[in-house]
Amino acid sequence: MGEPRSPAAAKPRLVRCPACGGDSVYAPGNPFRPFCSQRCKNLDLGAWASESFRVASDTPPDDAPDPEAPLQ
Ligand SMILES: [Zn+2]
Repeated sequence: MGEPRSPAAAKPRLVRCPACGGDSVYAPGNPFRPFCSQRCKNLDLGAWASESFRVASDTPPDDAPDPEAPLQ
């Protein structure tokens, strides 16, 4: 008889934290997964929100005339 092998008891699955790039435990025990911590989760959500707001306000409508286009 060898050692008992249970997949559930194996090493915790580690993924890369999208915010800091560090190891993050991807398991029910980590409520912030795939982030490694609440801090990283908040950082990422904040960056995403500010990025989308910035893009939305800086992007001109597609049908806006281009002031640099030469008239023909
Ligand atoms: Zn992190």
